[in-house]
Amino acid sequence: MSPLSDVLRRAAIVLVSALGSLVLTFCGAINVFPINEDKDLGARFDREIRANPAEYPIRKDPGARQYVQRIVDKILTSPEVKYRGTFAYKCEVIQNDKTINAFCTPGGYIYVYTGLLKLVDNEATLAGVLGHEIAHAELRHSTKRMTTQLGLETAMAIALGNNTNRNIELAANMFGGLGLLKNSRDDETDSDEYSFKYLKSTSWYPGGILGFFDKVKGRSAGGTLERLLSTHPLPDDRIKATQDRLKKANIPPPTEAQLNSRGYQEFKRTL
Ligand SMILES: [Zn+2]
Repeated sequence: MSPLSDVLRRAAIVLVSALGSLVLTFCGAINVFPINEDKDLGARFDREIRANPAEYPIRKDPGARQYVQRIVDKILTSPEVKYRGTFAYKCEVIQNDKTINAFCTPGGYIYVYTGLLKLVDNEATLAGVLGHEIAHAELRHSTKRMTTQLGLETAMAIALGNNTNRNIELAANMFGGLGLLKNSRDDETDSDEYSFKYLKSTSWYPGGILGFFDKVKGRSAGGTLERLLSTHPLPDDRIKATQDRLKKANIPPPTEAQLNSRGYQEFKRTL
């Protein structure tokens, strides 16, 4: 082989692999769905959840819901939040002490289980978890995943199609119920990062979610943790990444005022 053709061959390999990674990056970042699709999809999830009290028994007394909503509303004042006023950002508390989880649909319908509310020790930790949930909606993880998993061409056809509702339904059904809310590890890391950013502009300790990691770290998967892990994978590096963020931003250890554990214990007694 002549030196020239060898150079050309190497150049071609470099070009092809560069193109390949460009396409992958592009597909990972792109979202063909308009913002209204996140809103519609969320409203549909919300209706389905409310219509299924056997699986999702929503607490009737408004106290717990209002407490959680107040935290969410404060987080939403962060300048990092883009879809405040566009997405619903409405909370409900599901009465189920055995389930340690919270989830957020596209378009911002947030559901928190009493199992999670009872597990955590302070308000900053709950705020950290809620910030993480808000980030899943803000970063539009579900519709981005739909774009990637359906393939760009199909997703484009759905996004541009006349019969969008039916197609979205087909797409959502592909993932099976809350399967659409199953986040990837990258989504989890991104949401942790945004939870940190949101909380930085509040009075809460921005590393609040660490308290949650500490609580679930020692537990084995299955049972109460099964549902949590089904929507939020918990790789070990999420703890380290949060610690690194705190260190980089020079955040000192939290004070009681930043955690509000006393206020939170009072709230827990009402559950
Ligand atoms: Zn998550």
